[in-house]
Amino acid sequence: MMGISLGKLIFTVVVVVGVWTLFKAIARRNGKTRVNPAQRAARMAEDTVRNRMGDRGDKGRSGGDAMDLVRCPSCGAFTAEGSTCQCGWKAPG
Ligand SMILES: [Zn+2]
Repeated sequence: MMGISLGKLIFTVVVVVGVWTLFKAIARRNGKTRVNPAQRAARMAEDTVRNRMGDRGDKGRSGGDAMDLVRCPSCGAFTAEGSTCQCGWKAPG
């Protein structure tokens, strides 16, 4: 007999669905204790942002992109340290 009976077909479907349900149940139970991928991604993104902000803070403290301005005593204009004012006064620094 080479034919597939309805009984065998139903048995196969029941076994496949049963195994699938079992694996889903196991995965759900593990998912509660473990961190799911979405939470892991959110945590990684938070760490990246925190690290980037930390780097920028360190650079600013060591004198990176920000420059100090000095007020010219003769004309009152603010010029960057070490540069010359419009009136010719050389700012210290
Ligand atoms: Zn000046």
